[in-house]
Amino acid sequence: MLSILIYRSRMNGQLAQAELAELVRLARGANDARAVTGILLFDGVYFLQMLEGPDQAVQAVYERIAGDGRHTHIVRLLQDYAPRRRFAECGMRLLDLRTHPQGMDHLLLGDATPGADTLIGDRAYKLMQLFAAGRWRDHATESDDAAHWRFVRRAAPFPQSMVSMPSSAPCRFALQPIVDTTHGRISSLEALMRGPGNEPPHVCFAGMTQEQRYRFDLESKAYAFELASKVGIGSCKLSINLLPMSLVQIPDAVQRLAELIALHGLKPQQIMVEITEDEAITHLVPFKAALRRLRELGISVVIDDFGAGFAGLSLLSRFQPDKLKIDRQIVSGIHADGPRQAIVRAIVACCRSLGITTVAEGVETADEWCWLQAAGIDLFQGFLFARPVLDGVSPVTWPVAVDAAA
Ligand code: C2E
Ligand code: MN
Ligand code: MN
Repeated sequence: MLSILIYRSRMNGQLAQAELAELVRLARGANDARAVTGILLFDGVYFLQMLEGPDQAVQAVYERIAGDGRHTHIVRLLQDYAPRRRFAECGMRLLDLRTHPQGMDHLLLGDATPGADTLIGDRAYKLMQLFAAGRWRDHATESDDAAHWRFVRRAAPFPQSMVSMPSSAPCRFALQPIVDTTHGRISSLEALMRGPGNEPPHVCFAGMTQEQRYRFDLESKAYAFELASKVGIGSCKLSINLLPMSLVQIPDAVQRLAELIALHGLKPQQIMVEITEDEAITHLVPFKAALRRLRELGISVVIDDFGAGFAGLSLLSRFQPDKLKIDRQIVSGIHADGPRQAIVRAIVACCRSLGITTVAEGVETADEWCWLQAAGIDLFQGFLFARPVLDGVSPVTWPVAVDAAA
């Protein structure tokens, strides 16, 4: 099976002509030994490399390259299979675009490859052509180096960071900050359900009938509001998670939510409801009616886990939330993943046109955050900044530009 892989990267520092030639010579030798062939395109700053060969050999070569400090911002753009090699004759061909701005096509195909014409117009070909023509920049996000940032931990700006909750409560909540790193402020706190012994949310709902689950989900929010009120969130917002059916199936659910909010001294304008289920789509009419009541009270609506499971374009096309949270699976490793980057860029553009605030969930590394903020994501949530804390709020780790810190 012939595997192909294309990545793009940025040169780290300067590379003299002779050094480039030497680099290619060494790569050629290493690749030959593994039956890997390919081409390296270079525009003076950026590389685009295509590798072709047996699956494991291509992976091994890519991993070695990814660990090479002579280039940074390595993004895997394509991983696929092909019927035949394009560059069968050579372990690593070099195409320096500064000296060969023209006559690309025969190089991209391999001169004498039999049946090469069948490779014209495939994805690998299009990506190489886009790079060679310099048009790839219109479809990419150039992000900052994570090394330009350091992270500083500061206590959360609330009167209490840990509070005590009634021990008889059937559930508890953990709070996790959602942060605006541009302005160094906590935008909201998400209340995540926990069992009496700190069990995860799905355990809290286990063993209940559908009916009980919806009722419990709604009534549990009393403890989330009580916690927020004891922490003293002030004018900060509070995000709660609700099964859409809790709003649809329970008569006067929105009215009950409003009562609980008022009971704990919070304002409806401070509350955001996160929803994620497919039920929202299958019961669209009553669901939209519940949303209308939420909006009338001033409560915001958030689509959670966008891009995972049922929270997708279909839901977004039917109703537009105030906020959209991009699922952790898409965010994970995004700084090095071409397909995920393309998807998030499109989500950001879409949300901009609609006035929807974007949140990236599950941000765990500085590299991920650097890319996401360059792409225009508004808010961030994840272990990089703060973990959820039971009955309290953890300090927040803020990015500070290294220059600004000096
Ligand atoms: P969610 O609403 O998407 O909440 C985010 C989940 O991601 C939380 O898991 C949180 O602990 C976790 N998380 C946050 N940052 C990171 C990170 O950087 N890396 C990783 N790996 N994980 C991170 P948790 O608390 O286990 O909650 C799981 C899900 O349970 C929630 O996902 C939400 O859909 C649901 N849930 C939580 N509380 C409630 C509730 O009161 N009612 C309902 N119906 N569902 C709830
Ligand atoms: Mn959520
Ligand atoms: Mn989520």
